[in-house]
Amino acid sequence: MKACTVKAFLTITVFSITFSVEAQIPAGDGYFWYRGNTHTHARYSDDSEINDVPMIARWYREAGYNFLLLSEHNNHLLERKIFCYDRLSRPKENFIMICGLELSMSRHVTALGIDRFLSGERSLREAVTMTLSAGGVPVLNHPMDPVVTAKEFIETEGLNHIEIVNGGRLLDTPASIALWDSVMSEPGGRIIYAVAADDNHYSRQRVGRGWIMVKAKSLSKSEIIESIRSGNFYPTTGVILDFTRTDGKSFHVSSQNGDTIKFFGRYGKLLGSEAGKDASYLFNGDELYVRAEVTDRQGKTAWTQPVMIKGGGNH
Ligand SMILES: [Zn+2]
Ligand SMILES: [Zn+2]
Repeated sequence: MKACTVKAFLTITVFSITFSVEAQIPAGDGYFWYRGNTHTHARYSDDSEINDVPMIARWYREAGYNFLLLSEHNNHLLERKIFCYDRLSRPKENFIMICGLELSMSRHVTALGIDRFLSGERSLREAVTMTLSAGGVPVLNHPMDPVVTAKEFIETEGLNHIEIVNGGRLLDTPASIALWDSVMSEPGGRIIYAVAADDNHYSRQRVGRGWIMVKAKSLSKSEIIESIRSGNFYPTTGVILDFTRTDGKSFHVSSQNGDTIKFFGRYGKLLGSEAGKDASYLFNGDELYVRAEVTDRQGKTAWTQPVMIKGGGNH
């Protein structure tokens, strides 16, 4: 079964044009894993009249992606007011476009899955509020550029997603992860879901630096958006997970191609490390939360979303 799943992934990556119809990786219980990028730009909206959007969508489709969000800077789009590219969806080829923007008039935020054009935000808080009121999911982009503090993040109600991998700022990943842990560990903090994305600026070479794998029943805009909203996904730079599972006493992680699994808790404290594709961590009850990182020998990584530990909290 496992060998079969690995093959499915390789098929997507290498032969995506011919076999993209197969690009649904079973996740059990009627669910599938869908690969997507939530942060991509086109030259068209930034500084050109040449419409390169169809070409960029094709790059991602051909690389085996199932969904793409063209996150145009809303401050460059005042006349065009584009936030959806539905016409580029190819449902028969297991590829859809997700509506959205990168709100850029204040702190950059991906407004994922919105139902209208948004502009005029004057703060991070306004960007988040406007995204939520348009039915979307706000994601704090490149949190080190400029730096958002844990306090500011926690005070921004409704902000529950952070970009820990940005394809244009890969060196910021460790600091972004430290912020992620701080937001979950500080008094008043909460569970936050991590996102990886290319932040691609019109470069085919930058397709695939970071993406998310979303667990959903089918490939529709609403299923993908709601799975992302509820944390039913994980970010990765190349390691693929089979599953993560918790029974309230332990956390079990299984990967297809990882070599080492590390478990982390409060403030990113290392709780344990195991070699191999599978590992379990037994809760001791005071971790507050547990999350895992699965790496391979090349340094590719998948991050699980955190599991909250009952009774371990200062929240
Ligand atoms: Zn940005
Ligand atoms: Zn961007």
